[in-house]
Amino acid sequence: MSQKQFQAPRGTSDILPEEQVYWRFLESRAEDVATRFGYERINTPAFENANLFVRSVGEATDIVEKETYTFEDRGGDLVSLRPEGTAPVCRAYLQHGMHNLPQPVRLFYMGDFFRYDRPQAGRYRQFHQFGIEVIGETDASVDSEVIDLAWSVLESVGVKDVTLLLNSIGDATCRPGYIDELRSYYRSRASELVHDDCKRRLETNPLRLLDCKNGACQPLIDAAPGSVDYLCGDCSKHWDALLGDLNAVGRSYKIDKRLVRGLDYYSRTVFEIVPPSDGQQSTLVAGGRYDGLIELLGGRPTPGIGFALGIERVLAAIPRDDESITKIDGNKIIVAHMGDESKSAGVKLCSELHRAGVAAVLAPPGRSLKSQLRYASSIRATHAVIIGDRELESGSFMLRNLVDREQREIPRDDLVAALIPS
Ligand code: ATP
Ligand code: MG
Repeated sequence: MSQKQFQAPRGTSDILPEEQVYWRFLESRAEDVATRFGYERINTPAFENANLFVRSVGEATDIVEKETYTFEDRGGDLVSLRPEGTAPVCRAYLQHGMHNLPQPVRLFYMGDFFRYDRPQAGRYRQFHQFGIEVIGETDASVDSEVIDLAWSVLESVGVKDVTLLLNSIGDATCRPGYIDELRSYYRSRASELVHDDCKRRLETNPLRLLDCKNGACQPLIDAAPGSVDYLCGDCSKHWDALLGDLNAVGRSYKIDKRLVRGLDYYSRTVFEIVPPSDGQQSTLVAGGRYDGLIELLGGRPTPGIGFALGIERVLAAIPRDDESITKIDGNKIIVAHMGDESKSAGVKLCSELHRAGVAAVLAPPGRSLKSQLRYASSIRATHAVIIGDRELESGSFMLRNLVDREQREIPRDDLVAALIPS
């Protein structure tokens, strides 16, 4: 009786061996850049107390309203698979007394996140982010640093021609006035508001009206007041300082009033980095300042800022023909052999290569040379060492470069040294 085969759940993917080199490339470049900027890695659990996200991400957000995987565990605790990284990092910051360290604290993370989103290109139910947080500093120089870091990561993996979109949504002093303006603007054009989510947002979360992706709402958004025109003195100063610092580090920006965050603990800087062809699922990096979050989680008032970079989306934007990517894995040797004696020599050689730190695999015994070399290509070997009777006799083995097809004979005793990466 035939049974239907299992498939990976909708919105998840297997990251297959041939794809792994690109992941390693991006992860190692991101880690290098973050380290160069003075950030240290933190790992937090894949699930948290559900209330952490209700409180931090907010009840009236897409994430908490309809996207978290929340369930009661067998002990009766309500937990959520993490939909984002900022709240867990802030929780860890407080839990481990990092607020008692000299401030600010610079952290980065990488891992998988879970949202019950509608799966489509660039949008998955389990996806990966690289992110950073700077906690404990209000100065605009860190806002510029965070943006520069994000952009540097993209540059380091060859993603070019991106655009930085930037906005400031003010703080508790000036935002209420701006929201009033926004609300009266939308009320005056209420008849044009056709999208149900937006009708609701007008009452619950007017800022979110501006990031509506619905086509019908776009003309309304275009003519809406923008928050940078309503900043108070302090927020204005911060904004000007940020623009000055961005100029100093050579990062150009486009001010975009559509960039908002609907929650009270967000303040001032909001930014996104988008690729040249800006579709709706294409934002590569999203970030901003969250000066009220730590307090909301029970800490002293402490400013913070960070971003999250969508790893799958950046991987989709990386040029695939770049040889420097596939090279990061170094040499991988297949040891081909013909007959029992040469197989024994091959077993010994493989073991020596392993001990010397070179990746090596003994070709499957009992097969033709052609079939062994076919195997070599399926495991992405870069070189083949070929051992036959003639080679055993001469004491020199044939080394074939499988990438450029060149081959030469090397004395057995020099072989291992020749393959150790320089
Ligand atoms: P959107 O408006 O596209 O839903 P978001 O505001 O939910 O985005 P953030 O929470 O700011 O996104 O996440 C930061 C980044 O993580 C995004 O810019 C994107 O690159 C990536 N990301 C977010 N959700 C997903 C997802 N479901 N699948 C893949 N990548 C995602
Ligand atoms: Mg989303």
